[in-house]
Amino acid sequence: MEKNVEKLLRIKEKELIQAFEANNMTCLFVKDKDELTHYLKGIFNQQKKVAVGGSVTLNQLGVIDLIRESDVDFIDRYEEGLSRDEMMNRFRESFFADLFITSTNALTMDGCLYNIDGTGNRVAAMIFGPKEVIVIAGLNKICLNEQEAIAHIRECSAPTNAMRLNKKTPCVKTGHCMDCRSPERICSSYVKLGYQGQVNRIKVIIVEENLGY
Ligand code: SF4
Repeated sequence: MEKNVEKLLRIKEKELIQAFEANNMTCLFVKDKDELTHYLKGIFNQQKKVAVGGSVTLNQLGVIDLIRESDVDFIDRYEEGLSRDEMMNRFRESFFADLFITSTNALTMDGCLYNIDGTGNRVAAMIFGPKEVIVIAGLNKICLNEQEAIAHIRECSAPTNAMRLNKKTPCVKTGHCMDCRSPERICSSYVKLGYQGQVNRIKVIIVEENLGY
């Protein structure tokens, strides 16, 4: 990383850590996949029941494989061949996990998390259920404020996810959210997580790369 980019990042790191702390969440920065892997290995153990939210970022960082290879009891939503009912049951089971690992569509400099969800299982488990939540995000998810976070979700996260899922929605063609009424719409629940009552239940880990969308 170029030295002035690094300098700017360190200033933002300090600001974000303080902002999340003020909202009763912890925040830490890791350089790359290796540092993240080392951190996660340190907290995985046989007693832990772990679930994950659907996430391109987690797959890019090898987190799903890492959980499968570890000793934890994994509620694996990515297991091949799951029926719709089995998948829904795993989503419900996730509420009883010790640890829920997910990404976020956006996070802001005032220490809030912004997400849009179709089924709602991911945002629901972030809000309530699992004893601990780890949110892993790349630098590209950092937004200045709520307005920028919502714009990022409508202009990037949601249309790109619709493309990934081969949805027949207008954003796949236009590249912008058209606030559609399509039966294949993937946007149902718009959720902001701000000040938390349960101190440090949510940990935000920022990986110093661009990841997901
Ligand atoms: S509301 Fe419809 S058009 Fe907008 S991002 Fe979601 S699926 Fe695409």
